[in-house]
Amino acid sequence: MVNGPMFNPFEVSQRQLDKSAEKLDLDPDVHALLREPMRTLEVHFPVRMDDGKARMFTGFRVQYNDARGPTKGGLRFHPEETVDTVKALAAWMTWKCAVVDIPYGGAKGGVVCNPKELSAWELERVARGYVRAVGRFIGPEKDIPAPDVYTTPQIMAWMVDEYSTIVGYNAPGVITGKPIPIGGSLGRGDATARGTVYSIFEAAKVIDLPLQGTTVAIQGYGNAGFFAAKLMQELAGSKIVAVTDSRGGVYAEDGIDPEAAFDHKKVTGSVTKLAGTRSVTNQELLELDVDILIPAAIENVITEENADAVKAKIIAETANGPTTPEADEILYGKGKYIIPDFLCNAGGVTVSYFEWVQNIGGYYWTLEEVHRRLQEKMTRAFHAIHQTAQENNVDNRTAAYMVAVQRVAEAMRLRGWV
Ligand code: GLU
Repeated sequence: MVNGPMFNPFEVSQRQLDKSAEKLDLDPDVHALLREPMRTLEVHFPVRMDDGKARMFTGFRVQYNDARGPTKGGLRFHPEETVDTVKALAAWMTWKCAVVDIPYGGAKGGVVCNPKELSAWELERVARGYVRAVGRFIGPEKDIPAPDVYTTPQIMAWMVDEYSTIVGYNAPGVITGKPIPIGGSLGRGDATARGTVYSIFEAAKVIDLPLQGTTVAIQGYGNAGFFAAKLMQELAGSKIVAVTDSRGGVYAEDGIDPEAAFDHKKVTGSVTKLAGTRSVTNQELLELDVDILIPAAIENVITEENADAVKAKIIAETANGPTTPEADEILYGKGKYIIPDFLCNAGGVTVSYFEWVQNIGGYYWTLEEVHRRLQEKMTRAFHAIHQTAQENNVDNRTAAYMVAVQRVAEAMRLRGWV
């Protein structure tokens, strides 16, 4: 979430926990255990490259806390992966699963590699090599990986195949985010964005904002950004007036067609220069006079420098950590409605949970069933946080931490850990 020389992401996650621990008057022993991951695994494994030579890869899997159930969380393939980033992301998965009340602890994993420099065959061998290295530590009842940055349903398919070969039977429940023909769930593809949209529905109700015709700006036009645009238009009747990606972006007062922007990006590599629009920078997008702002790209984009210029009424954090703690205070002071990241982007892991339930039950749901249950989960989580914020007179992020930490702490107490 927070990168750069100034921030160690894991220390940031610990500071966030400390703040809510104080508000909750948390038992010091519970607090001490929640400040550290329960297990951190580092692996080194060989992969045969296309040129015939073997290369060593480094991977991690952090199982942060399993008091509420088997640990759950994505796997990143990233050239700059560090154990501290993985630890922070594993902590956030713990809070995310607790907030939407699914019976999991939190985990995260990563392999230090640049998938853009690997051939498809090499990628497959890295995926299988990682599973051989961590195979003993994961499992449908133990720790369940899923896709994340630069990992795809195809990579999940190779991994589930390798794991099944190791254990000697077909074990679809070991990994979620699989392709549908091998046990994936309907509705997993747009689940993160759909969860965001369902939480925006509730935020709009509590601030009394009729959604029909509202204007929306979206930063980031990957899977989450694109589906957020499409679903805000289709389900909320909103007008998408601006979208950006890493190269810049576009603005159109009369609205942008989400599909057209997506097709344009597929062809040209970026949403920039889309016909019928004018250009807008990533910085300008955040300050547009719109009703709803959806940061769906990277961390630390709303800072103390620009928070004052943000005009949107609702800020729906689909990205992890787009708002710095200083910006948070400014936005809260200005009465902005923030839907904090680990609530706003919890739709992905929620449908992962549904996928796992279907794998274990061996019975597959309709798309309508997935959507209905996702909306139910998101709505309930939203109101638990909103109510906690109101009752304790705190911002939504602190309230989200309070709800999550309390749930994990209670599971620890019931198990007799403290
Ligand atoms: N990587 C996603 C997340 O961070 C999904 C995790 C999962 O489905 O287990 O929420």
